[in-house]
Amino acid sequence: MSDNSRLRIAIQKSGRLSDDSIALLKAIGIKLNIRDRLLIAHSTNENIDLLRVRDDDIPGLVMDGVVDMGFIGENELEEKMLERQATGKPADFEILRRLDYGGCRLSIAVPTEMNYTGVASLEGKKVATTYPYLLERYFKEQGIKAKAVMLTGSVEVAPRAGVAAAICDLVSTGATLEANGLQEEEVIFRSKAVLIQRADGELDAEKQALINRLVPRIDGVIQAKE
Ligand code: ATP
Ligand code: ZN
Repeated sequence: MSDNSRLRIAIQKSGRLSDDSIALLKAIGIKLNIRDRLLIAHSTNENIDLLRVRDDDIPGLVMDGVVDMGFIGENELEEKMLERQATGKPADFEILRRLDYGGCRLSIAVPTEMNYTGVASLEGKKVATTYPYLLERYFKEQGIKAKAVMLTGSVEVAPRAGVAAAICDLVSTGATLEANGLQEEEVIFRSKAVLIQRADGELDAEKQALINRLVPRIDGVIQAKE
């Protein structure tokens, strides 16, 4: 059941951004009927459908115009934008608001026993990450010749497994790094959740008008919390 006249919003189905994103939608008065196993959730009081997907898919869904809006971490958004630019796919979108949740940093960490004296210590080495485009951009900025090795999971075990000399992964407390004998050395990107929409002018007037009504309500909710 999909109806093209309804505003489509992509949110992470299950993960660190899901609860806060749903709470924000509810706080701005959108009534939702979410059934755990279903991809689509319909609002019962607004012309809005939620598409519940993996967070990795959200930037592409917005940039391809499959959905109109999305809640996504800036880390994932920036990575996908770089990947799409590099592979010649459309990469346009608008950031509507930076949100007050989903805070984390993308950091390079090395085994505690490594004699690390700065990024130059990574010269010629492999670094495991889920964010190869962000990491390669950082190496380029730093003038370091190191290689990003893509891993979609268990990045923190890569040094012990002999797959890479270091890692570049998301950190919030640092507990996971410590548990794996790793030391955080460089923060390469600071991230929060953001609300994005399709590029300006890509939306029909009614949907854009609905978005333009929703965004001030989000500001109100965020201000009330401050
Ligand atoms: P999915 O199954 O949807 O692909 P995932 O495992 O990629 O899930 P999560 O771990 O739920 O994703 O993280 C989603 C986003 O939450 C991250 O991309 C990041 O923007 C944010 N985030 C906030 N804190 C952290 C943290 N400590 N570790 C990882 N991500 C965090
Ligand atoms: Zn993901």
